[in-house]
Order: sequence, then structure tokens, then C-alpha cells
Amino acid sequence: MATPKIVITTAASDCYHARETCELFQAGRATARTQGWTDADVQHMPLGEALVRRRPCSHCLR
Ligand SMILES: [Zn+2]
Repeated sequence: MATPKIVITTAASDCYHARETCELFQAGRATARTQGWTDADVQHMPLGEALVRRRPCSHCLR
């Protein structure tokens, strides 16, 4: 799957994802919830910025 020009991440994540339906993205949010954390807002980020500040998700991006 091609990497989109805009990817998603959250302030609490060090990864970026192609889409919100990514299983790892959803699992991470579910884990945070079980630990009593409130959901971090989903942020849309240009791929160029994400490449510098985050690493790609190993599930939805390779
Ligand atoms: Zn992902």
C-alpha cells in the first residue's frame, strides 16, 4: 500500500499510521484506555513532517 501524503498520529505516539482503522493504532488506543488515559486527539500530519518526527507503523506502513 502506498504511503498517503497525509498520515495520522497522536501526541502520545511515536509512530504514524496511514489510516485510523489500522489495527495497531486502534489497539494502542484501547491499551491507553485500559490504563485510564484519555484518548489523545488524532492529529493529521504531512508525511514530510512525520518522517522527521515519527517512525512508520510496522503494520499499515512498511
Ligand atoms: Zn498503523
